[in-house]
Amino acid sequence: MQSLKIYNSLSNKKEVFKPIKDGFVGMYVCGPTVYSNVHLGNVRTFMSFDMIYRYLLHLGYKVRYVRNITDAGHLTDDDAEDKISTKARLEKLEPMEIVQKYTIDFHNILQKFNNLPPSIEPTATGHIVEQIKAIETIIENGLAYEVNGSVYFDVIKYNKTENYGILSKRKIEDAIENTRALDGQSDKKNAQDFALWKKAGPEHIQRWDSPWGVGFPGWHLECTVMSSKYLGEEFDIHGGGMDLKFPHHECEIAQAQACNHVAPVKYWMHGNMLTMNGKKMSKSTGNNILPKEIFTGDNPNITKAYSASVARFFMMQAHYRSVLDFSNEAIMAAEKGFNRLMEALNLLNKLETSANSSFDVSKWKQQCYDALNDDFNTPILIANLFEAVKIINLIHDHKETLNEQDLDNFKQAIHAFVFDVIGLENTSISNDNSDKLNGVVEILIALRNQAREDKDWNLSDKIRDELIALGIQLEDGKEGTTFAIN
Ligand code: AMP
Ligand code: ZN
Repeated sequence: MQSLKIYNSLSNKKEVFKPIKDGFVGMYVCGPTVYSNVHLGNVRTFMSFDMIYRYLLHLGYKVRYVRNITDAGHLTDDDAEDKISTKARLEKLEPMEIVQKYTIDFHNILQKFNNLPPSIEPTATGHIVEQIKAIETIIENGLAYEVNGSVYFDVIKYNKTENYGILSKRKIEDAIENTRALDGQSDKKNAQDFALWKKAGPEHIQRWDSPWGVGFPGWHLECTVMSSKYLGEEFDIHGGGMDLKFPHHECEIAQAQACNHVAPVKYWMHGNMLTMNGKKMSKSTGNNILPKEIFTGDNPNITKAYSASVARFFMMQAHYRSVLDFSNEAIMAAEKGFNRLMEALNLLNKLETSANSSFDVSKWKQQCYDALNDDFNTPILIANLFEAVKIINLIHDHKETLNEQDLDNFKQAIHAFVFDVIGLENTSISNDNSDKLNGVVEILIALRNQAREDKDWNLSDKIRDELIALGIQLEDGKEGTTFAIN
């Protein structure tokens, strides 16, 4: 079997994956800032790394997967305010109530999309002591300075011996353009410098004591501190969305170098953006779709509801490093493909074996592994899965044959790729229970139609609303009423 290759954003090349310690992988992925509901774009990034995690596990690695929760320190784009404190003030809640509310939402949503939980999920507020210690080390090493109760990283001085821009390939002069007129900017020696610790104004709710007075830690620092605490000063994989490459990940490298004098990460991986109408999905612009809107169909950009597995299949049809544009047509097409795949999987359990095999299962399986080993190429894997769908149908029609052993091997491999690696769930299975469920919903649709004929709107609305509450969405069309189960 060829070895796994990973595209490393540091070298901008695909490299053979060789973990620091044979058989073990340490992987860190930047988690969400828990101040609002995650949108489908956020979900894409976490799902891409979930697939990567799943494939590493499938290959037999022991993986420690760390994904943090940012519950303090992430400032608004103009750097004026902390996102969580701002939301807490707006909603008249404690910051920790905001954090709790959106952390629970995040976990629920990722679970719906069948993401595996990480091995460790550390929070920024749980690591204030470690962050203060790291700042002290950076100051001792001469690469940070304190002004007026805030501490800044000295980018210009760091860049004299190291390369600030090693990851983003930005020149240090260009970095200035990206640094806006910041709150307290006049305190900095240079515009490129970034905050390791910020003094808390009287209105700032989340605040801690430090050697520099009352304040709160900078966002970039938490990831440096938590990744090195749980994975070591040097670890294998660091991931996140493409938009985090600069400044966040560039700053992480600088901080780690300034603390430990080593490059922290062997393979930097970046997932590309989910767009809608050609523009990045984002919280701040409102150009986004929420997972719950996908499940109910309640968003102007879609005409019906879709299940989480269909949305997952839609994402997996694109390579994690390609931009993916969300549209109703695209997800509807994904639903057709998903159903075709699931129907073939149901048929797979009913196939008869023959004395000989006319189809080369090993060769097909190898092609699937080749796709995944080529920087987790799920679209090519899915093309191979549709090749398998064709073969399954041909075997069913007695036009291709598999002996017992090959059929077993074929089944096991398909199940591993579809369920273990891509992480789909067979929601359309025509197994006994879902047949029964479908039958029950059909009965309710008939009762609702009768109620509507009788102009008993109370009853017809009650049936519709209670089905929605159970995650079953009715859809009235020209050819009658259909339904989707989430
Ligand atoms: P945030 O909570 O804003 O820090 O974002 C959490 C994760 O979602 C980060 O890894 C971002 O890079 C990622 N992300 C944000 N917007 C998108 C998008 N439109 N498509 C894919 N990933 C995104
Ligand atoms: Zn991070």
